[in-house]
Amino acid sequence: MSNKSDFIVVGAGIVGLATAYKLQLKFPDKSILILEKESEIGLHQTGRNSGVMHSGIYYKPGSYKAKNCKNGSAQLIKFAKENNIKHDICGKVIVAVSEKELSVLTAIFNRGIQNETPGICYLTSEEIKEKEPFIEGIKGIWVPTAGIIDYVQVLKVFVELTTKMNPKSKLIKSCEVIEVIAEPNFTTLKTNQENFVADKVIFCAGLQSDRIATKDQLKLDLHIVGFRGDYFELKPEAAHKINNLVYPVPDPKFPFLGVHFTRMILGGIECGPNAVFTFKREGYKRTSFSFRDTFEALTFKGTWKLFGKHWRKGIDEYKRAFSKRLFVKELQKMMPTITVNDVQPSRAGVRAQAIDFEGNMIDDFKIMKHNGNIHVLNAPSPAATSCLAIADEIVSVV
Ligand SMILES: Cc1cc2nc3c(=O)[nH]c(=O)nc-3n(C[C@H](O)[C@H](O)[C@H](O)COP(=O)(O)OP(=O)(O)OC[C@H]3O[C@@H](n4cnc5c(N)ncnc54)[C@H](O)[C@@H]3O)c2cc1C
Repeated sequence: MSNKSDFIVVGAGIVGLATAYKLQLKFPDKSILILEKESEIGLHQTGRNSGVMHSGIYYKPGSYKAKNCKNGSAQLIKFAKENNIKHDICGKVIVAVSEKELSVLTAIFNRGIQNETPGICYLTSEEIKEKEPFIEGIKGIWVPTAGIIDYVQVLKVFVELTTKMNPKSKLIKSCEVIEVIAEPNFTTLKTNQENFVADKVIFCAGLQSDRIATKDQLKLDLHIVGFRGDYFELKPEAAHKINNLVYPVPDPKFPFLGVHFTRMILGGIECGPNAVFTFKREGYKRTSFSFRDTFEALTFKGTWKLFGKHWRKGIDEYKRAFSKRLFVKELQKMMPTITVNDVQPSRAGVRAQAIDFEGNMIDDFKIMKHNGNIHVLNAPSPAATSCLAIADEIVSVV
């Protein structure tokens, strides 16, 4: 059979490429084909994220997120050291700015203890200022194992190492999987280029994961919606106001961490991202719109339930998305001296978030086996941090 591989990985984001790398390590003789619809790697979530290696402090003890973030972060740091990938374990501060945030701050700290997040400790407002002189908080948590990394470089190294281990393995770009035909012992993928066949296919399609699962006849009880995150950046003359990573106390009703300050490994300080329901899954402008994405989102009953539960928050996020003044007002809660003149608009990313029929955002990672293939259905943050641990899980299922 021509175009036959042992494995095909669909999607060259960090989950797909980490999986290809770990599969190749485990099965050096097997051929792995990676199919990516874009002309470059890293054009969606992985190349548009905050570049943070999370410590695992936030996540529900026992969840896949908690387990894989801690393990994944340790593996990723080791991998970065071994492969000269730019990174810095600079630590981060989580800052409470009012009495009413203290109970959530305590809950996060307790989760950190249960998750055995190394080295965490409380900070007084003076101790916060020693680390971040422009930040005003009443109490904080110091998380020394959080860091920053160049995730696009990680992607490139995964491709290099995988194809070096086995020259029969390769990445094909501009190759969109359009149809999935599963037979008892193999699967054929129809693409915009040609047809490819593999014994097993691992689908890691990020923002398209539900659509491609449906093409493999998987009956889903979830739908992917996009939450766009817009960033601003500190102008060079204001960049001295942040040393490393400063996060607010997140709203526990949402899986997002709140608008934060992030030192980027390639330089500059970003502020963001917000979390705005988007009408285009792969749309990175405030006005991006896709009829198909909107129609599918609005005909899924969970979307309306999501709107019903969180309409007030949703409206606030929309207002902030279109108003620099309101965005900066959010930042001023932690840094009262920041002004609209200190920041300028920067890039945006869209998070793939699975929601269920009841409008609940599915918090944990979700990976399913179907037709002998594997589908990664929900891999939101901290999936970039956790990529090598998620890949281990997938390899163990294979
Ligand atoms: C704004 C933002 C900030 C974030 N910050 C962080 C952070 O600081 N730390 C962290 O750990 N995580 C963070 N995350 C989450 C993290 O980036 C994602 O969890 C992770 O990148 C998901 O990787 P992925 O491989 O599943 O998806 P992606 O990176 O989106 O890759 C999926 C790939 O599949 C391809 N594809 C889709 N359909 C097809 C098809 N039919 N045929 C071929 N190819 C296809 C796409 O083109 C894409 O390249 C953030 C996410 C966002 C959006």
